[in-house]
Amino acid sequence: MADRCRRAALAFTNGAEVWTKADLAGWLVGPYRGATRSGSMPPPSRASSPPGRKVEPAAVDDLLSDAHVRVLTVLENVAISRTKTAFARRLLEEHAVQRITDHGHTVGWIPMDAPRMRLAYRVLSLFAADALARPADYETLTVCHRCERVRFRCLEESCGCMRDDD
Ligand SMILES: [Zn+2]
Repeated sequence: MADRCRRAALAFTNGAEVWTKADLAGWLVGPYRGATRSGSMPPPSRASSPPGRKVEPAAVDDLLSDAHVRVLTVLENVAISRTKTAFARRLLEEHAVQRITDHGHTVGWIPMDAPRMRLAYRVLSLFAADALARPADYETLTVCHRCERVRFRCLEESCGCMRDDD
């Protein structure tokens, strides 16, 4: 479960800048849907877009770059924070992520796919579910200042943009 969340989240942070509307749609019905659970529980109003707002094709670029900036800003703060899973616990409190137990009583976390959630909030809830499951990895979360690649230093030593950002 956490793997699926992380893959979907990193696909967004490390790819969305060059996405088209079709790429976004494919991500939403593919990796994103595969990592989330549909829910009727509305997120807090401050995390929602106005109801009924339609995204026009011309606005998709803006939507993607806005969400990308929002997500990276949060992750950059996580990277320099002492409590790197505080953002995840906040999303858990806001019910954007839910705690689940399987039949073997193994605890896990799953992001909610609720109506009218902002794109950035959806991406962050993927990271949050992963962070709650594997907090140690988030001690090594890094956002490259140059290429903006999000990575875990424990798993990926260099982002490959030839800059020593550590
Ligand atoms: Zn880089």
